[in-house]
Amino acid sequence: MPELPEVETIKNELLPHIVGQHITSVTLFWDGIVRQPSVEEFYSRLTGQGIVGLSRRGKYLIFNLTGDEALIMHLRMTGSLLIKPASAEPEKFIRAIIYLDNETGLYFRDPRKFGRMWLAEDTGSVIGRLGPEPLEADFTPEVLAQRLHDRSAPIKAVLCDQGFVAGIGNMYADEALFAAKIHPLRSGKSLSRDEVEHLYSAIQQVLRAGIVNKGASVANYFRPGGELGTAHSHFRVAHLLGGKLCPVCDTPLERIPIRHRGSYFCPKCQPSQG
Ligand SMILES: [Zn+2]
Repeated sequence: MPELPEVETIKNELLPHIVGQHITSVTLFWDGIVRQPSVEEFYSRLTGQGIVGLSRRGKYLIFNLTGDEALIMHLRMTGSLLIKPASAEPEKFIRAIIYLDNETGLYFRDPRKFGRMWLAEDTGSVIGRLGPEPLEADFTPEVLAQRLHDRSAPIKAVLCDQGFVAGIGNMYADEALFAAKIHPLRSGKSLSRDEVEHLYSAIQQVLRAGIVNKGASVANYFRPGGELGTAHSHFRVAHLLGGKLCPVCDTPLERIPIRHRGSYFCPKCQPSQG
């Protein structure tokens, strides 16, 4: 699933293609992709609007429009946004195309159809209560320590909670916990001050590396031009199936389910007691 580095890459690479353009028409191949408003209103309100900006909050993309509303997208499990010539034939996983007046189209590709779009004046009503942005200056080790102090859930689940911190998901949580040498089932509040500091640094490092490497191309992630990211080839534990050894100590990595998602870790480098 696209996480902060993937969505940030999409935002960065789409920006020069779309800002200043107008939406000439919209085609939906699957109406369920629009959550709000009705499909009819979505077509009529979007058509003719200019795109004045694009930003990211957590895993959401926010397209600011001339009409004082925003088009919001969430790619969920398997979504990608591709920029193609407007004449490009849509392949079978394209669920929507937003045509622009520079004769390109924004193609929303989504094999599993979990991705969603909203059109809203108040972005907060769609995005809801998200935690701090982990790469912003106001997210500090002190803030992380404060937010962890009453969390009894496994630290892996806490990091993936979008209300705790925005944008981290399964892959980058596994990578950060490995880098910080913290077992994924440790409770949030059990972390020592040193461990919180290590975790904070690890979060910064894995997310920034993910952005530098243009995201991880697992599960159908493509960059807007159709290229793959390379962040997954730098992963040390995330998504490594079957018989892989810890890159630090050569112990076989283990996989356990936490909140229905596989968590990969090294039982020796990440002991269950801190
Ligand atoms: Zn190890």
